[in-house]
Amino acid sequence: MATSSDKKRILITGGAGFLGSHLCDRFLAEGYHVIAMDNLVTGNLANIEHLFGKKDFEFYHHDVSKFVHVPGELDYILHFASPASPIDYLKIPIQTLKVGALGTHNLLGLARVKKARVLIASTSEVYGDPDIHPQVEEYHGNVNPVGPRGCYDEAKRFQEAMTMAYHNVHNVETRIIRIFNTYGPRMRLDDGRVLPAFLSQALKGESLTVFGDGSQTRSFCYVDDLVEGIYRLLLSDYHMPVNIGNPAEITIREFGEEIARLTGVEFKPSYHPLPENDPMKRRPDITKAREILGWEPKVDRAEGLRRTLEYFKEHVSRAE
Ligand code: NAD
Ligand code: UDP
Repeated sequence: MATSSDKKRILITGGAGFLGSHLCDRFLAEGYHVIAMDNLVTGNLANIEHLFGKKDFEFYHHDVSKFVHVPGELDYILHFASPASPIDYLKIPIQTLKVGALGTHNLLGLARVKKARVLIASTSEVYGDPDIHPQVEEYHGNVNPVGPRGCYDEAKRFQEAMTMAYHNVHNVETRIIRIFNTYGPRMRLDDGRVLPAFLSQALKGESLTVFGDGSQTRSFCYVDDLVEGIYRLLLSDYHMPVNIGNPAEITIREFGEEIARLTGVEFKPSYHPLPENDPMKRRPDITKAREILGWEPKVDRAEGLRRTLEYFKEHVSRAE
């Protein structure tokens, strides 16, 4: 049997968040020693409370935009710390820019010292409101740096540039994932993203808040599929950005209708202005993920939404 000291050691920043907590679960299940780090600005210890007390799990309460110290060896780093929902990053744009820039710099420095491989969580937002569709990794994007979403999009673009620089100058082993809209259990009910908003509203019998006329599209990936993509990319030898997402595209209005059907309520939209610079369409081209990682999504929206609904039912009633 492997002892703790034989185990690969992985640092997961943003470990108390939605994606980070699922990554903690996955890497523990794969037999790693997991060190989660989070300042809890948008995360929640409830997401990882089931891991406290496990001998291969540690938690550090720390802001990664400040110097990061981790005792002992590290084999891998997953940098997932960052507000991710528009209402979060619009509230704290400076912290968002800092964690993408200073936080990433700190973690790349740590990776260099520890000789660890580092994977950074980038986003489809680097493509902004895209002129080409679906989005391929070679597309350079259409981002407004001074618009409201600029704090997030540009932080992530800088993060990618810094990561490539550490790869090129210091030979750090780096991986860049461009994550498209992902959903699942442990999303915060009030994080303002469309899925938590619609599910919570439907479960409470409220009207669904559709921004704009609802003709804008998104492509939603179930969290387990994303985690599998991250796992494969981390262990691959490919250092250029890879899109991971589910190419099944849907308009926001149709998505609202789908959520209403799923929850057994009548679809009652309430229309609100479209936020500035809100991308009109988004769908990943996943050719690279298919060819390089042998990855493609397995959980379709019907199944993923059913699983997510269970979580929301429990938590919406608890919040009331
Ligand atoms: P989340 O808000 O649930 O998790 C982010 C976590 O990072 C939180 O626990 C938060 O407290 C922590 N954090 C933020 N700033 C920090 C700091 N300075 N120091 C330490 N911890 C800090 O969001 P999420 O959806 O889990 O997103 C995780 C990562 O994935 C983010 O980097 C995000 O940009 C990226 N991403 C997510 C999606 C998605 O659809 N969920 C899409 C694209 C990219
Ligand atoms: N949206 C909406 N109602 C809401 C929340 C979001 O119509 O209550 C829209 C939003 O304008 C966007 C899409 O849903 O077009 C996805 O928004 P989200 O914040 O989930 O993700 P992102 O815009 O970052 O892709």
